[in-house]
Amino acid sequence: MSTIIERLGVDIGGTNLRVGVVRGLEVVHELRFPADFSSICKQHAPATAWQEILRITLSALQQVVAEYPRVAGVGIGFPGFISPESGRVVQSPNLPGLRDVDLAGELSDLLGLPVKVENDALVAAFGEYMLLAEKPRSMVYLGLGTGVGGGLIHGGQPYPGDHGMAMEVGHIIVTPHGRKCGCGNLGCLEQYAAATGVIASYAEATGEQLLAHEIAARAKAGDSHAQAAYDLAGSTLGIAIAHLAKTLDPALVLIGGGMSQAWPLMQKALKDQLHQDLIPVLRDKTQIVVSGSGDQAGIIGAAYLTA
Ligand SMILES: [Zn+2]
Repeated sequence: MSTIIERLGVDIGGTNLRVGVVRGLEVVHELRFPADFSSICKQHAPATAWQEILRITLSALQQVVAEYPRVAGVGIGFPGFISPESGRVVQSPNLPGLRDVDLAGELSDLLGLPVKVENDALVAAFGEYMLLAEKPRSMVYLGLGTGVGGGLIHGGQPYPGDHGMAMEVGHIIVTPHGRKCGCGNLGCLEQYAAATGVIASYAEATGEQLLAHEIAARAKAGDSHAQAAYDLAGSTLGIAIAHLAKTLDPALVLIGGGMSQAWPLMQKALKDQLHQDLIPVLRDKTQIVVSGSGDQAGIIGAAYLTA
């Protein structure tokens, strides 16, 4: 009798914790648990918030493991910097106060299973890579959402950097003296190419505060200010991708995240800018592809952390 290996992939989102049971490259069951970790961190002292995050995550995983007792390991995509040496969460920009906690170690002890934690964008990159039929030697992933995350896969493995901070692409400066960023700098990519950036571009031009998908609908209906906001997202992405291509020379740049649905509105400006910025020998070498995996890549990538 052959043994079917099941692993759990966990995605910690804004208000939800998603746990997927992964067999092969398929999520056979996905469960969602309410988990507003950001509010917990804002409302409680760090030590209390941490215990609460641990309790909620453990309880969710125990429920799933009770249903799937053959689970071989648990991987977690976490919104923060993870130490490549210790596997501990160093800090998380979205979860203030949370510093140097051992999510993987504590969960592993409590569950009695191998647990690994990695940065969520890097985990999404790894999932996208696992889903590719033809695997390149190196691949860059850009996740466009409320911010811009990134991940590099090299030689079949996620590349976290020496401090777990590789591919902080959202903070590549694309406009000197540009918009103020949460990181303290001016002109970072995510101030233009994330959903918040598109919203800011449209508000600057029109004084109207709309959601990114509403601006996309206006662009499709011929609103030139709305199209200009997406053109700016595309051209700034082009600048960042040109830097990445010149530094890393990946065969593939994969674009995912919720904002990637607006790809048709961004792609011309992106490709024009990329063509202009790349050195001739690199032009047309880097393939740019939009992810077709929906929101499954984060779960699958997490599950494969313990493979
Ligand atoms: Zn920044």
